Parts: sequence; structure tokens; C-alpha cells
Amino acid sequence: MHGTSNGEVGAEARERIDFWAWFGYTYTLDFSLLHTEGQARAGVLHTWRGDVPTPCFMPVGTQAAVKAIAPRELLEIGTRMVLANAYHVYLRPGTDIIREAGGLHAFIGWEGPILTDSGGYQVFSLSDLRGIREDGVEFRSHIDGSSHVFTPERVVDIQRSLGSDIMMVLDECPPYPCESGYAAEANRRTLRWAEICRRRLEQTAPLYEAEQALFAIVQGSVYESLRQESAQGLVGMGFDGYAIGGLSVGEPASEMYRITEVVTALLPSARPRYLMGVGTPENILESIDRGIDMFDCVLPTRNGRNALFFTRKGKINIRNAEYATDFSPLDVECSCYTCRKFSRAYLRHLFKAGEILALQLATIHNLTFYLWLCEEARNAIRDKRFSSWKKQLLAELSPEQADVES
Ligand SMILES: [Zn+2]
Repeated sequence: MHGTSNGEVGAEARERIDFWAWFGYTYTLDFSLLHTEGQARAGVLHTWRGDVPTPCFMPVGTQAAVKAIAPRELLEIGTRMVLANAYHVYLRPGTDIIREAGGLHAFIGWEGPILTDSGGYQVFSLSDLRGIREDGVEFRSHIDGSSHVFTPERVVDIQRSLGSDIMMVLDECPPYPCESGYAAEANRRTLRWAEICRRRLEQTAPLYEAEQALFAIVQGSVYESLRQESAQGLVGMGFDGYAIGGLSVGEPASEMYRITEVVTALLPSARPRYLMGVGTPENILESIDRGIDMFDCVLPTRNGRNALFFTRKGKINIRNAEYATDFSPLDVECSCYTCRKFSRAYLRHLFKAGEILALQLATIHNLTFYLWLCEEARNAIRDKRFSSWKKQLLAELSPEQADVES
């Protein structure tokens, strides 16, 4: 893992950024696009705290902790960047405590890059929303009912306090389904808020040693014209990277793929693209195929804690009776600690007995699987065999579906 010596890594990044500044680019985060196959891309995200090869998967540490796994183990399984949530951390423990700790990295014991979600999505999905105003959103905490206001400025300030390597703008994430009138209103606000966030970024400086990048979020529900308007507007403003929000909120997968295609076609190839909150292994493969570089999702960790394992041959519910005397590893091709050391029978026992170790071993394996998926996709794109590899893996991941199609 890079990132222990911030000075050295930072110096390299500084050089690259200074180089681009000669041409009038003022990015705080650099991205190298190395290989492409169709729309699929393999590259490297250069952050102050180390390089992140893409496509990449970011384990989700909602409350400044990836559940049931220690940062040391995250490193061991090959995690390069983690996600934390500004909404949750702001409410608890609060930004004062994070500042006193010297930033989020110091507080949580993770030296690699961190991306923080702005909290826009959580305000709209989790909190007791009190009102959407032109200057921001008013909500009550889901923890203690206390009142808060998130403005675009405030959200940048909060993420400055956290010191995340990649910050996200405040956006309004409409639910699904959503009528076009409301989606258009939300789109307009999201564009305006993005511009205010960008200005706030320029007016403020990082509180800790590392530079902080800012990503915009393309919204617009399932409406092509709104998505186009959103993407074009944000690209016109110029951000370090572009995320696609408001997908994987209940719409059919075909809609997700259609919108992803529409949006990535409009994004600059020299900047990273991040599909927020997606998804299943199938979703990830299809989205990589449509030009996405970065992913985060709670599925591997959450499913793991519910005894659902992802393997190269599809999903396994380890509680099933058929595994009681199955002494084979969970996934013979997986090199993680769980698969090297333990049998399906033992994992089933751990879940049946309610042992904490069950959650830890499940998290290690499922995250390893997601990291493997992105790494293999990257290798396949480099070798120009992504398309055939994807097809073969998809057939193995859901054999039933492949049977239906053939
Ligand atoms: Zn494994």
C-alpha cells in the first residue's frame, strides 16, 4: 500500500498536476487512462495518498468503519480506497472531534485514500426531511431528531474537516419512480449546488497536508434529456471527476445501463467516472463495459453478514442444509484467508451458532471477491479480452439465466 509516506506520494502527484497546469488545467487529482476496449477503460487514479488502479471497488465504511473488518485486513485483501459518509460522520461523532483527531485518516487508522459521499443521498433517503430550499436542505437527524441544514457550502466545509481525498458535491437524489417535472426541478438545483460547491472549494484550503479533489454528481432520474443536461452542465463547470447518482434506486437494470451509456458518452475521457452505490457483480461488469471506473456498494459487506456469499459460480446461502458436511472451500479459486483456511461446513456452523467470526470471515471473502472482479476486469481490458471474459463470467455467475438465454 502506498500512502504511508504522504510527502513522497504527494510530491509525485504535485509534479503531474504542475505539468497539467502548464496547459491550463487546474485539477487537484490526476487520472491516467491506460487501456480501452470498446467503452471499457483501465487506468490509474493518482491521489495524494497513493495510486488507485481502475476499475476499482471501494468498500463502504458508512460510519467511518467498514463493518466487521479492520483497516489492516482491508489492506491485506488489496483495498486501495475506502468510502466514508459525510452525513453519518457529521452527525456522529461530529466534525469537531474529527478535526481534533487530525482528520478522518488519523481518526480511523487508514492511511490510503478516502472518498466521502456528501450526504445528499442520506438526507433524502434516511433523515426526516423537513424541506428543500433553494439554498440547501433542512432535515432532522435519524439518530436523535435534532435539526440540521446542509447547504452546498456547508457540505464542502464538512468534507474539509474530514480531509477526504475525494469530496462529493451536495446533490438532490430523486426517488424512483419520479415524474419528469420534479426530476427537472431537482436537476436544476443539483447543477446550481454543484457550482456553489466548486466555488467553495476554490475559496477554502485543505486543513491537513493532502490536497482534496471534488467530484460532481450527474442526476436526472431515468430521463435521457435531463441526464444530458446535467452531464453537459457539470462538464462545462469542470470537476476533478464525475459521478452518476440516482441509479440503483429501484429501477430495472436495463434502465441503469441505458442511462449509464447516455451519461458516459458525454463525460470527458480524461476524467474518472464513478457510478454511485452499484451494485451486483453483474451490474459492475455491465457498467465497466459502459465506461465506468469507480464503484462502491454495501452489497458484499451487507450480504456477507447475512450469510450470502459471492463466488465465481454464483451466490451461496451458507445456511442451507446442503453445506452441513461440505468440507470444501467456499470458492476454490479464491485466495482469501476465508477460502484458504475454512470449509463451507465450518462457515455454516459459525452462522448457525451466531459467532462474530462468521461476519468477519464473510466480509473478508465477499470484499476479496469484489476486488478480484475489478482487478480481473482491468487485466482483461489491458489484454483486449474483456468482452469475452465478461460473457464467460456472467454465464458462470448466474447459470440459470444463461440457460434461459441459450
Ligand atoms: Zn475467498
